[in-house]
Amino acid sequence: MKQRARRFRNVHAILTLAAGLVILVSVALGGLGWRLLQQEEALQQQRARDALEGKANILQTQFFSKMGEAETLLRGLGSSLPPGAGDSFGKGAIVVAMKTGVETQPPGQLMYLPFVPSSRPLDAALFDESQKLEFQSRDFSAASAALAALADRQGQVRAEALFRLARVHKKNGRIKEALATYANLKDERTLSPALEEPYGLVSRLQRAELLKESGQVADAQAEAAALIDSLNAGQWAINKGTHHYYFRLALDLAGHPPETSAPAERLVVAETVGALWDEWRQFARSGSQSLTKQLHSSGPIPVLTLVNANPERLVAVIYPGQALRNWIPDPGPGEDAAGIRVDLVASDGRSLTGTPREERPALRVVRTLSPASLPWQLDVTSAVDGASRIFASERRNYLVFALAGIVLMVALACYAMARGVLREAAAGRLQSDFVSAVSHEFRSPLTTLRQLTELLAEGRIVEEGRRRQYFSVLQKETSRLHQLVEDLLDFGRMEAGRRQYRPEALDLATVVRDTVQQYSNEAAANGHSIDVAPQPGPLVVEADREALQRVVRNLLENAVKYSPEARTVWVETEREGRFAVLRVRDQGIGIPDAEKKRIFEKFVRGDAAKRAAIPGTGIGLAMVHEIVRVHHGEVGLTSEVGSGSTFTVRLPLSRAPGAAEVQEPQAVHGSFR
Ligand code: ADP
Repeated sequence: MKQRARRFRNVHAILTLAAGLVILVSVALGGLGWRLLQQEEALQQQRARDALEGKANILQTQFFSKMGEAETLLRGLGSSLPPGAGDSFGKGAIVVAMKTGVETQPPGQLMYLPFVPSSRPLDAALFDESQKLEFQSRDFSAASAALAALADRQGQVRAEALFRLARVHKKNGRIKEALATYANLKDERTLSPALEEPYGLVSRLQRAELLKESGQVADAQAEAAALIDSLNAGQWAINKGTHHYYFRLALDLAGHPPETSAPAERLVVAETVGALWDEWRQFARSGSQSLTKQLHSSGPIPVLTLVNANPERLVAVIYPGQALRNWIPDPGPGEDAAGIRVDLVASDGRSLTGTPREERPALRVVRTLSPASLPWQLDVTSAVDGASRIFASERRNYLVFALAGIVLMVALACYAMARGVLREAAAGRLQSDFVSAVSHEFRSPLTTLRQLTELLAEGRIVEEGRRRQYFSVLQKETSRLHQLVEDLLDFGRMEAGRRQYRPEALDLATVVRDTVQQYSNEAAANGHSIDVAPQPGPLVVEADREALQRVVRNLLENAVKYSPEARTVWVETEREGRFAVLRVRDQGIGIPDAEKKRIFEKFVRGDAAKRAAIPGTGIGLAMVHEIVRVHHGEVGLTSEVGSGSTFTVRLPLSRAPGAAEVQEPQAVHGSFR
């Protein structure tokens, strides 16, 4: 019992160990796999980052070389700009040239100028007469006539005459004529020597005010709006102060809210040109021969200006606001550029081109532009981080599958190992049971032998009858021992595959009858009788006589051994198709279903047999099975616990010609005691 408990504990320990091993291996492999996956992802990311860094370096170089190209282009420009000079600098770029005045390409970009060219002097004597008529004699009609005559002339005289004529008309109450005359002047760019402002600009304001005074409000507003447009379009050669002055008045007349401002980008350009002018003045004073530099501003409308100047002229290219996009290098169409975005950003990361910033890109690399004396950066982002989600999940799946496979294999290996160990343990247990059973089998006849030989040797048995009886016991025990040794030797030979069979044509019924006859005395001594059913015809089989006898004897011995209560054992032989059949039936203890298959294995003994201490070694049925198998037959068993068992042996009938006549059929019948 103790041994059994220990064995159970061992088995339990083995199973726990195997399960632990499976879990350990799974956890270790899982952890390792996961780490590998993460390392792989990190590696991919590092590779993608390196690639993006390389790309950013190329883009940075492109930026600098583009800057060099622009500077070379500027250097090649003279003080007068050919039409389309701005085109080679990219979309939205404004080229400025300064000499005595300021010129831009495309033209009309400046709302005001850093300086205003002075007006040409006017021959004042021409207007003496009209002036007298207007101011001294206040004869407006005569003044009008005098001025109308002058208005037929050209250029500045005409402009001055018309301007004065409009004023005289107004004084004369001839509003319509005054308005028409102002309208005549609306595009006149010549500067009035008295005002140092263009006639057209002043006339427009005068006209708008006159319209308002005469109650034509809508027309006044339209005129003021047109004036604002012309101011915004940079139509007039005026300075900043004049621009702002007229702008405010026009806003008021147009009925616009006072906080309305001129277009920001144009303002920035005008301001930049003002700054350029100052720069050039300073440079001219410094006595230097050439100037190449850039100006920049990161304000709400950022600007980049490249300047090239010498004492004779200054040329510059201005990139205001959106025009800065020209400076964003193109990442190219290649596969390595897929998902890459480039932008120009201020040092605080704000986009200078107004592009919404990629807040959480997969990868971001920044390149400074300080070598070009710019406080800006190139912001290079990639939407792909190298370890794409699809690849990652695919790899994860592979890993899970591979792990599941490995764990399954380890589990199977552990199962096989545990099974092997358990089997080994069971085999060991069977062997030790066998050894003790064999020892036990030997001990009882040997004890009897020793005691009887002692008695006889010492001459203590004098009576002849008793001596003969003792000798017969000695003989019986010796033959039992002999039988046992024979059994074991035969079993050993079978196990080693050295048992030789000498098949011959035998009548199964005869062999059965002979064996029953040999064994009947032993059975009778045990109180059992063997009932053999008559066999009508010969059952010739090709078999080894000794082996066949062993089969019959083993089955008979078992039937007797395992029928302690019922005293009869039945034996019958018959023909079933091409088979000779032997049946040995008893009404003994029976065999439970769970043991029916196993009892044919070597060393296996039934539980009931062991419990009832019925002697045996567990090799009898194994030998029966082996012998029948070698003879191409089969053994069957039907049994019920408590009701008895029937062992059936089927052997193929011999097909040799004349086999039926080998032996005379002899009906075996009767009981042997
Ligand atoms: P042994 O009889 O020496 O134990 P065997 O190989 O002849 O070995 O039989 C194996 C087991 O089969 C026996 O221990 C017994 O439990 C069972 N057995 C064999 N024949 C019978 C039978 N006729 N009735 C009941 N049990 C049997």
